[in-house]
Amino acid sequence: MAIPSHSSRNHVNKLVELPQSGMLRLDKYFAISTIDAELETLFQSFLPTLSSQQHDNYLSGKQWLDIITTLAPATQGTPWLRASQTQADQMSQLTLANQQMSIDLSLRYSPVFDLDNNLLEILIVILVSRSKQQIEKDLQNEKAFYRAVVEDMPALIYRYTTEGIVTLANAAVCNYFGAKAEDIIGMSIYDVMDAENIERAKIHLAGITPDNPISTHEHSGTDSLGNRKWFQWTDRLILSDDGQPIGYQGIGLDISERKQHEEELIALATTDVLTGLLNRRQCLLLSKEALLSCQQQNQPLSLLIIDIDLFKNINDRLGHLAGDHVLQTFATLCRNTFKDGTIIGRFGGEEFIISLPHIPLEEARLMADNLRKKAAAMTIEFEKSQFNITISIGIAASYSSVPCSHLDLLARADKVLYQAKGAGRNQVICWENNE
Ligand code: GH3
Ligand code: MG
Ligand code: MG
Repeated sequence: MAIPSHSSRNHVNKLVELPQSGMLRLDKYFAISTIDAELETLFQSFLPTLSSQQHDNYLSGKQWLDIITTLAPATQGTPWLRASQTQADQMSQLTLANQQMSIDLSLRYSPVFDLDNNLLEILIVILVSRSKQQIEKDLQNEKAFYRAVVEDMPALIYRYTTEGIVTLANAAVCNYFGAKAEDIIGMSIYDVMDAENIERAKIHLAGITPDNPISTHEHSGTDSLGNRKWFQWTDRLILSDDGQPIGYQGIGLDISERKQHEEELIALATTDVLTGLLNRRQCLLLSKEALLSCQQQNQPLSLLIIDIDLFKNINDRLGHLAGDHVLQTFATLCRNTFKDGTIIGRFGGEEFIISLPHIPLEEARLMADNLRKKAAAMTIEFEKSQFNITISIGIAASYSSVPCSHLDLLARADKVLYQAKGAGRNQVICWENNE
């Protein structure tokens, strides 16, 4: 792609500063008597042989004929002479060009006479505009400039029709898909999008209207190397000249790193560092939400509080690190015993909570007893020691017929847990409704 050179960018800037008009005066001998400074500077830039000698008022005193034929060698006619002879204003057009730019001048020659009709001077008012060729060239430069910016952006930029056919894809899009622009252009965005995003994208695009033409959203996708990436998309509606929607432009900023940090922060805030289970706060929060949802659906929920028996002895006999190892080993046992997504948390110390939505008390009792047996059967090794643990479990359940709060459930499970301790440990006791 042709990228506008540095000098042509400068030049574009220079054009912005073009004077729109200027005035100069010729004396009765058609030599320049005064000229606007901006106009003089402009003329001098079209008189290359003079460039090294540029200084203010350089043009003063010069013959207009010499100047005009140097500025525009193809100049025909002498309207200033005609103006002096006809005593009427004369118009003429000129195009000035140098290697960098080309401009159109409209000149109005207005002769001034004394009472005896002797020529005193000629005022020349000049309107300056960029020539058609220059406008075209500037447009090309601007186009090439913006194309280079779009192409070099690290953000994914693409455009597609309202039917989803891609009409533009920048280098970042090509890198992401591991394909060439010519292969991507003409494809449907729905063919390149991850299946899970298609419905979401359609709903999102339906919300972009002429009244609400820009919309941002975040979503993830998989790049050509199989990496999961998160993007913040800014989508804009593209309208035809008569205001009809003809497509969309999407700009996608890679926010994967930010998302990763967010996920790490969420994990830190919700996970127990030692065991990797949910922490107390998160576990209670999820269990409470699950209870509400079960109650709305007339479904039961069983809550287990588990306490490792005589755990202090392990710490005392084998040290705190051995105790930590037991907590980690038991956490793994819980994770492996219950299906993925079960709400399992460390309540504190050597106490754990398992919340079982949709599971009635009797089923929960069997599951808890299964866990109790597995814990007892497990041999734990730490350094050179081998030992076993037992656990006590208290269970309380919520039923649609007897709704209770999450706090009630916790209190009831805790109460029966201590009954289990009192009854010799290594057992499961359920809080029965009639207690
Ligand atoms: P019980 O059967 O009645 O529950 O007896 P226990 O020894 O398990 O209960 P107790 O409450 O007397 O002792 C619990 C111990 O757990 C005391 C505390 O030092 C220890 N503990 C709490 N948190 C941790 C931890 O993160 N790591 C280790 N190693 N020990 C912990
Ligand atoms: Mg305890
Ligand atoms: Mg204990």
